[in-house]
Amino acid sequence: MDPIVLAANQIQRFYRGGEAIAGFRGIPHLDEFAPEDWVGSATPVFDSETLGVSALPDGRTVKEALESDPEGLLGPAHAERFGSEMGLLVKLLDAGQRLPVHCHPSREFARRHLGCPYGKTEAWVVVEVRSPEPFVYLGFRDDVDPATLTGWVTDQDTEAIAGAMHRLPAAPGDSILVPAGVPHSIGGGVFIVELQEPTDLSVLLEWEGFDIDGARDGHLGLGFETALACVDRSGWGKEELGRLRTVREEGGARRPGVELLFPKEADPFFRAERIRPRGAAPLPEGVSILVVTSGTGMLEWGAHGMAVGRGSTVLIPFSAGDCVLRGSVEVIRCMPPDPGAPDASVPTFR
Ligand SMILES: [Zn+2]
Repeated sequence: MDPIVLAANQIQRFYRGGEAIAGFRGIPHLDEFAPEDWVGSATPVFDSETLGVSALPDGRTVKEALESDPEGLLGPAHAERFGSEMGLLVKLLDAGQRLPVHCHPSREFARRHLGCPYGKTEAWVVVEVRSPEPFVYLGFRDDVDPATLTGWVTDQDTEAIAGAMHRLPAAPGDSILVPAGVPHSIGGGVFIVELQEPTDLSVLLEWEGFDIDGARDGHLGLGFETALACVDRSGWGKEELGRLRTVREEGGARRPGVELLFPKEADPFFRAERIRPRGAAPLPEGVSILVVTSGTGMLEWGAHGMAVGRGSTVLIPFSAGDCVLRGSVEVIRCMPPDPGAPDASVPTFR
C-alpha cells in the first residue's frame, strides 16, 4: 500500500482560531471558529457519528479503510492488540484566543462512567506562535481540595482557576505531554500539532466568555459532581512538570536527525519523533501520520517518491514498508500506542 496524502479537515469549535491552519495548509481562512484540523481521523466529535472523521482520496473514510485492512494499514502486532482501531487522533490546533481551562478523563474514568475504552491523554508540539508572550497553562501549582474546585467551577471564578495554575512559556519546537486529568489551557496565538487518544471527551472548568453553555455541556452529561472527580487536583512541582517536557534522545548513529519527543510513560498512548534529515532519514516500517512543519523534501518508498512540504500531512500504512525522507525539511512523525507497552490508565510520574 502506498502512503496516502491527507487533505485538510477543519472542524468548527466553540473557540476562535484557524488562521494559522489556513496559512499552514495554503487554503483561504473563511471561518473564525475553525481552530482544529483533524488529520487522518477515525474519530467523530462528541455527540456526532460523522463530523471529524476524515475522508481519503478514494472516497472512503479512514474508519472504513482501517476496518477493511487492519493488518495492512496498522501492522500485525498493532492489529492483534488493538483490532482495527488506530488508537490515535492527530490534530492541528490554532488557538485564536486562550482556550478555557479544561481536562480530559483517564481511561479508567472513561471505562467506568462513559463505556469508552479510551480517555484522552494528549500532547502538544508547538509549531508557531504569534503573540508577544505565548504561553500554556498546565497543572495546579498547589493541591486544590474538592470543595474549592467545585466552588470555582460553580461560581465561574476564572481568575482563581487561572491563578492557581502553572503558566509556561510556549516556543516553537516545545513538546509537552498532558496526562489525562491534568487541567490545562493553550494561550492565544499558539499553533500546535496535537497527539491524543481517539476521543473528544472534555470536562470544562471555565466557560465564561466562550460560546458554549458549560453548565449544560461541560460535564460529559455526567453532572459536575461526577465529572470533576476526573480532575487531577494535585499540585505539580517544577521538576515533575519538567518531565512532561522531556525530549528523550537523538535517534543515534542509526537514525541521525531524529528526536523522540515524549517520555517513555507516553508509549501506551502515542509516540512521536521530530525528524530533520541530514541527507536522508530512514523511517522504519510502521503506521504513522507525518506532519511536515517546515521546508520541502521527498518521501520515498520502494521505487516511488512524492514531494512533501510545509503543510503536507501523509498517512504511511504499515504495508508501505521502510521509507526514506530527504531534503531540507522538518517532520513530526506521529505514531499510535506501542503495541508492546503495558496498558495504562494515565501516564504516571509519581
Ligand atoms: Zn485538552
